[in-house]
Amino acid sequence: MDSAVTKVSDYCDLFLALTEPRDLATLNESLLATCLVLFPEQQFWLCDYNDIDQKTFSVIPSGASDSEEIPFLDELKKIVKQSSSSLHEHKYAIEGDISLYAYNIFHSVSGFLVTNRPIDKALFHEVLLKLLKVYSNQRFFMYSALNDALTGLNNRQSFDQQIGKLLLDKQYAKRRSSDKQNHNWCFALLDIDHFKQVNDDYGHLFGDEVLIIFARMMQQTFRNGDLLFRYGGEEFAVALRDISLESALSVLNRFRQAVSEAEFPQLGQVTVSIGVTEIEESLSVPVLIDRADQALYFAKEHGRNQVHSFEALAGSGYVTLTNTHEGDIELF
Ligand code: GH3
Ligand code: MG
Ligand code: MG
Repeated sequence: MDSAVTKVSDYCDLFLALTEPRDLATLNESLLATCLVLFPEQQFWLCDYNDIDQKTFSVIPSGASDSEEIPFLDELKKIVKQSSSSLHEHKYAIEGDISLYAYNIFHSVSGFLVTNRPIDKALFHEVLLKLLKVYSNQRFFMYSALNDALTGLNNRQSFDQQIGKLLLDKQYAKRRSSDKQNHNWCFALLDIDHFKQVNDDYGHLFGDEVLIIFARMMQQTFRNGDLLFRYGGEEFAVALRDISLESALSVLNRFRQAVSEAEFPQLGQVTVSIGVTEIEESLSVPVLIDRADQALYFAKEHGRNQVHSFEALAGSGYVTLTNTHEGDIELF
């Protein structure tokens, strides 16, 4: 009896480890660690699609090795790609010397758990598939907590976490004078012009459609390492990685122009106003937002459909440089 309780307790620990993590990297580690506890003879890899369009995926090995050290990475990628179209949710396949288990977080296959030996017991397959179901449920909850339901972009909660972390990382890199970590980032707030009018004239559903198309245009325009957010209502934010303010202005201007030239169903033209500023490590999150917001406000006041940088406006005396501490900003 005692040993049965001990076993249940051990399994509870495994499930706790799988359901506790609040970030993806830790969740992935927990899944692979659980697999190794259950099947210590095997090696495992998690092949996770990064994109909805399934063009790229990352491979996370069980154990500490880098992806470069994975012995048959190219072959693995080929097999996983080939299997994507034939494998569906909670199904597995044995291809040559390896077993693949598909998982999905939304509708299509989101990735695979791969192990280096074909497993010959139906019960083992079942256990791995059930584990993956727990894993994908967790992924779904994580995704829903941090992504906006309408556009799929990072939501406001994610914004607070990620921008806060970005500033902390920059401060840390500065203190350690680590140039490698200390990329130059810019931060922009984007606000659709006269959006209330869109809702009033065409209805809320068309308004929603505009927000979806706008978010998709952001995903197509900005680079992979940039962070995209729906900040609220018809306001969006982007943190542009590894870029000078000058280049950020030109990227944002190109985006602004693309929006103004795009055909939105029924309602035709929509424009956007943008305020941008450089992310200095000495800034707090509220001060950073305030700077971009002042530049955005200037764009709104001077005709809309324009991009302005806080720095240029401060240089010509249109906005004032406040201190960089949170306490200097009136939040409410
Ligand atoms: P401005 O050019 O000054 O930004 O004017 P605006 O009309 O865009 O700004 P305002 O803040 O007056 O209105 C924003 C509107 O956005 C009001 C609100 O109904 C609408 N909105 C906010 N969230 C959503 C949403 O999820 N869907 C839709 N369809 N509309 C939304
Ligand atoms: Mg607006
Ligand atoms: Mg607004």
